[in-house]
Amino acid sequence: MIRVGIVGFGKIARDQHVPAIAGSEKFVLAATASRNAHADGIPAYPDIDTMLAKEPTLDAVALCQPPQVRHGAARAALAAGKHVFLEKPPGATLSEVVDLARTADAAGVTLFASWHSRYAAGVETARQWIAGKELRRIDISWKEDVRHWHPGQAWIWQPGGLGVFDPGINALSILTQLLADPVRLEQASLEVPANRKAPIAARLAMRSASGAPIDAVFDWRQTGPQTWDIEVETDAGLLVLSHGGNTLTIDGVAQPLPAEAEYPELYARFAELIAAGKSDVDVAPFRLVADAFLTGETSVTDAFED
Ligand code: NAP
Repeated sequence: MIRVGIVGFGKIARDQHVPAIAGSEKFVLAATASRNAHADGIPAYPDIDTMLAKEPTLDAVALCQPPQVRHGAARAALAAGKHVFLEKPPGATLSEVVDLARTADAAGVTLFASWHSRYAAGVETARQWIAGKELRRIDISWKEDVRHWHPGQAWIWQPGGLGVFDPGINALSILTQLLADPVRLEQASLEVPANRKAPIAARLAMRSASGAPIDAVFDWRQTGPQTWDIEVETDAGLLVLSHGGNTLTIDGVAQPLPAEAEYPELYARFAELIAAGKSDVDVAPFRLVADAFLTGETSVTDAFED
């Protein structure tokens, strides 16, 4: 069994990591490190350094804090010889992630930059269907209610928290999994609330390697039904991934899919990487976000209160 410690015991740790570890034959939850929360019956420490010092038999850590503090924790874990699972996004900057990949290689341990949406039920079937077809266009619509999904998460509005790109990067992680060749960003516009430091909405104009237009709209002001859709028009028909990649239609016909199992599959992948002595650090989704911040035209919009 791989003894794993969770760092940052917040929403995603409780909702997804704990049940995925409990259901895994490869992992056991051995400790948590969090300032204000813990898992019942599991050794708990206030921070990662204390956890690493007191739990020398830990094999791995899963870093579930906000991205702004992930690099320091990952560095500490790698220095202690632990395998590291990074929640998405893998850090606050691209250069941090490059540093971690290099450090993990030098230490001979596994670094896994996870992208949970790539394990949504319809993504692999969609990838296989798209392969070899001629792309005409892709439209991404990722619109959700920030008050519902990120209540009171101050970090998400701070620099490095990504704002609406926190969910938007999930769409970009699916996009970059669906297409074999790299996507490039051409233009972006970002709307930032007057009282916040990160965007509440964004539009991206991208292009596939073959020249097909790819448009994305991310918006956190959606109330009512939530939208996490990707439409892919090809020379052989229209593919639509909805519900964050968990339902799939081709020319309007629903496709049979396996049950949803994003986090169990992430942990299965982490175990495989550890057994093979490999890392998996794909920064393609994060690079598109960085490009949007680099080149995007920013406008100020209405102040936002939680
Ligand atoms: P969250 O509920 O705010 O939990 C993060 C936890 O990290 C906090 O509860 C806090 O626990 C700890 N923490 C450590 N340093 C912190 C700091 N400087 N500021 C704030 N918290 C700090 O956030 P989350 O929704 O679980 O998201 C965490 C990561 O998972 C993000 O990168 C997010 O993109 C990713 N993720 C989230 C979801 C989702 O649906 N929520 C889905 C997939 C991935 P203590 O106060 O106890 O230390």
